[in-house]
Amino acid sequence: MGLIVQKFGGSSVRDAERINNVAGIVTGAYMQGNSVVVVVSAQGDTTDDLIEKAAEINPKASKREMDMLLAAGEQMSSALLAMAIERLGFPVISLTGWQAGFLTHSTHGAARIRSIDGERIRKELDSNQIVVVAGFQGVDRFDDITTLGRGGSDTSAVALAAELRADVCKIYTDVDGVYTADPRFVKGAVKLEEITYDEMLELASLGANVLHNRSVEMAKRYHVTLEVLSSLEQKPGTLVKEAVKVEKLLIKGVAKDENVARIAVIGLPDTPGIAFKIFSLLASRKINVDIILQSIGRHNTKDISFTVPLSDKDSALELLHEKFDVIGAERIEADDNVVKVSIVGAGMQSNPGVAAKMFEALYDANINIQMISTSEIKISVLIDRKDGNRALTAVHDAFDFNAGK
Ligand code: ADP
Ligand code: ASP
Ligand code: MG
Repeated sequence: MGLIVQKFGGSSVRDAERINNVAGIVTGAYMQGNSVVVVVSAQGDTTDDLIEKAAEINPKASKREMDMLLAAGEQMSSALLAMAIERLGFPVISLTGWQAGFLTHSTHGAARIRSIDGERIRKELDSNQIVVVAGFQGVDRFDDITTLGRGGSDTSAVALAAELRADVCKIYTDVDGVYTADPRFVKGAVKLEEITYDEMLELASLGANVLHNRSVEMAKRYHVTLEVLSSLEQKPGTLVKEAVKVEKLLIKGVAKDENVARIAVIGLPDTPGIAFKIFSLLASRKINVDIILQSIGRHNTKDISFTVPLSDKDSALELLHEKFDVIGAERIEADDNVVKVSIVGAGMQSNPGVAAKMFEALYDANINIQMISTSEIKISVLIDRKDGNRALTAVHDAFDFNAGK
């Protein structure tokens, strides 16, 4: 007996049949004597469909109105799931994000949670209700509806688990756990029994969208034990936690990120302060820069290339062109025909040769590396977009994941 937070993604509540299936899982946990809080995403492709609908009417719709629209998807699925649970004869109530007490910052489309006032949920739990909460949404201090960014329902669930001090937060999805690579693209991908917060955070940030990266960040900060598991098959999933039993694997996974573009600022004066000028400009618009490469100065000029999220490419270019004279570059180039492929694993810290192995696999597959970046537990390469899936498989095949089984 305890308090469980369960989260069901879009595919798990896709249609009436899937909603009834979820109602079965939820009531099963309730009948075992648990207090159950459920977080749901919008059904199937509802969020994408709503985005398309908006674009038909106004391709430059304000982010505030987009949030107003998108939040409706989760409101629908939470009510529908509550109806399915009601029909099974259980006490249940659905709540929107703001009814559930989610207070967020005001950055529409990517709002961060400021706090959760859990009073309403606690009151409902005290009267033995199953509580179904619309994920992905909250309200800012002006009472405007906000959303947490694509995939953000995971973060709603973890935040609630932290606020309510839940025993576990179970993320039900359409795969039965976290794999060493996206099982949809890599045939030999192996399911992991467990993974550390740090490794999962890197994987999620580098393109493994099985968990929203902020949900992992939050789980780590508040010590929430996460389990990623299937809503369609009853079997143990993958545990995400502080430390794993024995580190058997050199690397835990391979990920591909397609939301990336490369910008090159060419012919810059080879003087101090240039990098500062460029990157402080980008920071002023909250544009995240990832891999950075600076050429060695020659003939008093140098080039700086870097990657930004593809979704920020246009605003980064606009900004750099606006300040073209201040920066003093000869020209600016952009390339969105790239993807980032990364390997992640705490085991690589104490094992030299991991990078060489990755690069050898790419060489054998005749894939050219444009940029490289490394940290203690990851290595990323930027390559041609068309080579993305081949690189993913080639790199994955180079490492032995069966040792972790
Ligand atoms: P949900 O709708 O339940 O939130 P998502 O589509 O957001 O589901 O996340 C599940 C998907 O994540 C899987 O269908 C899978 O294709 C993808 N994925 C990417 N990388 C991985 C990985 N390393 N392990 C498992 N799934 C992954
Ligand atoms: N419905 C939102 C999305 O599609 C949030 C989520 O699914 O987590 O991004
Ligand atoms: Mg998701």
